[in-house]
Formats: sequence, C-alpha cells, structure tokens
Amino acid sequence: MNQAHYIGRFAPSPSGPLHAGSLVAALASYLDARVHSGKWLLRIEDIDETRTVPGAADAILHALGVFGMHQDGEIVVQSQRKPLYEAAAQKLGNLLYPCGCTRKEIADSRLGIAADGAAIYPGTCRHGRAPGKSARTLRLRVPDPDAANDSISFDDRWLGPLTQQLSREVGDFVLKRADGFWAYQLAVVVDDADQRVTHIVRGTDLLESTQRQIYLQRLLGLPTPAYMHVPVVRNADGEKLSKQTGALPLDLAHPLKELQRAADFLQLDLHQPESLDGFWRDAMQAWDHRFRAPNRP
Ligand code: GLU
Repeated sequence: MNQAHYIGRFAPSPSGPLHAGSLVAALASYLDARVHSGKWLLRIEDIDETRTVPGAADAILHALGVFGMHQDGEIVVQSQRKPLYEAAAQKLGNLLYPCGCTRKEIADSRLGIAADGAAIYPGTCRHGRAPGKSARTLRLRVPDPDAANDSISFDDRWLGPLTQQLSREVGDFVLKRADGFWAYQLAVVVDDADQRVTHIVRGTDLLESTQRQIYLQRLLGLPTPAYMHVPVVRNADGEKLSKQTGALPLDLAHPLKELQRAADFLQLDLHQPESLDGFWRDAMQAWDHRFRAPNRP
C-alpha cells in the first residue's frame, strides 16, 4: 500500500479542548495513517455551531502539536463549506422531504429509540405535511423494510462484520436541522469524499452512524472508506468522556505520560519509552504489528 492509497483523518468537534478520550481517537487514526505511509488530515467539525466553544479549535491544534502529531495538507473547517453540503442535499432530490414534527410528537409515537439514542421517526410527514404544520427539518427517506438496500453491512477493522436495518433501527433521519444547520451525517460524508479519505479510524460512539453514512455515500455515488471503530474512554458512570461528563484537560506539560495512557487504553504493548521520539517509535511498531494490512509494499 503506498501513500496514494491511504488517506486518513482526525475530525474533532471544537466543543472543548482535547481530552483523554479524544486523544485515543487521534492517536489511533494517526498511528494507522503513519504505519500505512499514508496522509493524516485534520478537519474541524464545527458544523453544529451551537456547540462550538471559542478558542477550542486552536487549543486542539496546539495540543496535537505538543504530542508530535502533525497533519498533512490544509486544515478543513466545516462551517466554511456549507455550499458543498447544500449541493449534496440538492442531489438527493425528493428523497429529502420537509418534516414538521417536533421532538415531542416523535417521542409520543413510541416507535422506540433508534440506534443513536434518538426516537425512531414514525414517517408522519413522509407523504406530505398535515395541514397547518410548517416545515422544521429536512429528512432523508430510508428504504422500505423489504427493499434490498435497507440492510447495510460493513466489515469493521476492529469489530468485524456489522449490519443495520435502516427502516427498523434508524428510520428517516434529519439532514437539515430545525435550527437551520446541516446535520453531521451529511457533512461528514461530503467531506470524507471531498478529501478523498480512504480509511476512517474513530471511536465506537460513532459506530451506529456508520450505516447511515454508507447509505448516503451510495445515494450520492461516493466511495465507502474502510472503517475502524476503537473503544471509547468512559467515566465511572459508563458515559463517554467529554467535557460535559467531567473529562479533565490533558496535562500538556507531560505529553509522554498522556500518550502512554492513551496507548495503554488501546492495549498497545510498549517498552516504557522515555522520550516522545521513543514513544512514537514503539507505538508505530506495536500498531504495525497489530493492524497493518498484510499486503505490504
Ligand atoms: N466530529 C466527531 C467527534 O468529534 C467525529 C466525527 C468522525 O470522526 O466521523 O466526535
């Protein structure tokens, strides 16, 4: 595999500084790109502008530099790319429909909770909005339960084969939100294709989104990258670590200690490196041993 065949990326949301959880995703995606002699791109996923914390993107970039993780190419920023998302939505034509339902109305229909924790949409506005209901969101139609493309499978490089039935487990999902922002699902698919990303390495918190993203790739005629979902760091209550769930900021005065902790979490067997250089040498070797594609260059 040569460099042209591997483009990876790290795509943090600037809702807070890098923490122990996001460092694990950064480290895994970085190691995977480097052992494949690939590129490692950086994308600031600030598409949900309501969650953007001023200064967080710069703090993340600074921290990555302290750890010795340097990106290839220009940094892409989602909030500056809205025309691309608009163009992709146009291509979806009438698979997208305006929906007037509120969250409460959807929850009241009691179809159950979708894989990502949101209530499954009962399809109320699929064939037109009820009189007097104004459009709040744009939803993407998923296939009917008996359609061949309703069931989407992929082979995760960490977890193995996984399948999701969109109609039953997800339902029609929002691509343009009630507050006017494009949804993450659309932006991430457009950006990964535009940046020619071939390999995605990220946390299992995004596992349940993957089939939706593959569905969108297929509708838009875009290639599907290889996926690897690595375990996410959780707090004592089992919640994914984030600023909201009490993640402590990383200690940038001791980057080796923080990297070592992230590597331990990924069960990389290192030999107590005493310097950042030593860490990277060891960590590359350990990752290479475990995950590099067998067809070496
Ligand atoms: N922006 C997402 C996050 O910070 C990551 C999205 C992705 O890797 O696809 O959780």
